[in-house]
Amino acid sequence: MLKEKLYDMLDSKSREMIEIRRYLHQNPEPSFKEFKTAEYIRKFYEKYGEKEIEWLRYPVGLHGIAVKIKGNSEDKSKKTLAIRADFDALIIKEETGFSYKSVNPEFMHACGHDAHTAILLMTADALIKVKNELPGDVVIIHQYAEETPPGGAKTMIEDGVLDGVDAIIGGHVWASSETGTVAIRPGMTMAGRTYFKVIITGRGGHGSQPNKCVDPILAASNFVVAAQSIISRNVDPLESAVVTFGRFEGLGSFNVIPNTVTLEGDVRNFSDRTRDLIEKRFKEILAGVTAAYGCTFELVYDHDYPPVINDEKLSEFGKSFIESNSIPGLKLCPCEMAMGSEDFSYYQRKIPGLYVFFGAKPEGEFFPHHHPKFNIDENSFLNIAKFFAGFAVDFFEKYDL
Ligand code: MN
Repeated sequence: MLKEKLYDMLDSKSREMIEIRRYLHQNPEPSFKEFKTAEYIRKFYEKYGEKEIEWLRYPVGLHGIAVKIKGNSEDKSKKTLAIRADFDALIIKEETGFSYKSVNPEFMHACGHDAHTAILLMTADALIKVKNELPGDVVIIHQYAEETPPGGAKTMIEDGVLDGVDAIIGGHVWASSETGTVAIRPGMTMAGRTYFKVIITGRGGHGSQPNKCVDPILAASNFVVAAQSIISRNVDPLESAVVTFGRFEGLGSFNVIPNTVTLEGDVRNFSDRTRDLIEKRFKEILAGVTAAYGCTFELVYDHDYPPVINDEKLSEFGKSFIESNSIPGLKLCPCEMAMGSEDFSYYQRKIPGLYVFFGAKPEGEFFPHHHPKFNIDENSFLNIAKFFAGFAVDFFEKYDL
């Protein structure tokens, strides 16, 4: 059986997978600056010959890597599946005591993208070795800059990474879920996000003479409060959304009314309809409140990542793949919607896509993603690689497009 052959090959690569992850962990680079990481991945694939892989082009986008593994089928209706992993790190000073701690004190792989990359490299290696038996084509996508908008996915798609691809899968190691669990949610899974910055301008002056000033602090305060009514009074109560102000800056003094106040924050939502509704109300309230207080405003309002919406059919297929017990160490667990965002959503706007969460809870004290002491269970990697490889085989053999 092809799947068993792949699983056996991955078993023998388990140690190498962990070593690659540790190397990447030690050498993190932040979004859009992952030059050495991209080079490392490119070199990994350079050892294969023309008969083994086809380079889609290099680089894809800024420095993404995409290679095609062509299966044996001459059938014109053969399918193509893409598997995507991200490879950027974060601007965080690592505080773990690991022997493979970051050598660059400014940056850290504190979200597990080092693991994603190691897992995909080993999955690709196994698929390449069985390509003559593989009844479909696989496109391997190593994507830069997931963490920072505008992200890498958008440009890689514009560069043709999904051309001829029928479906895409990707996933995330998840440090708060037990190793061996797989969370798949059909439909709305992760929120879309909008960034905003508001500058409210009044007329500053002496604190003793507010009548001679136009106070932007009062206007901005009222705006922050009024904007809360968007979620409580405008958004459908059955849909989740967030409007958060994370910065409120109006640097006057105890006796000085400042000239301007700067606000920054973000909006999260699960549908374009709600995204547009929030934008409309946000702008109406901002214009109304500032006018009422005699202030003016400037606004930056940028939609970045759309929501992650898992294809229903592909999700059910993924669930039944787990339930088939093809990989004994994996079992399904419930998957809640998350307000976090992911640029995997851009792929899903083009073709059916499935984004999966893999439990990877380490022993000992738990630290969340993006924490300076973040850690994941390396024992989870092997079965995740088996999931991607096995899913690909089942997709080619059993999935009806
Ligand atoms: Mn992440």
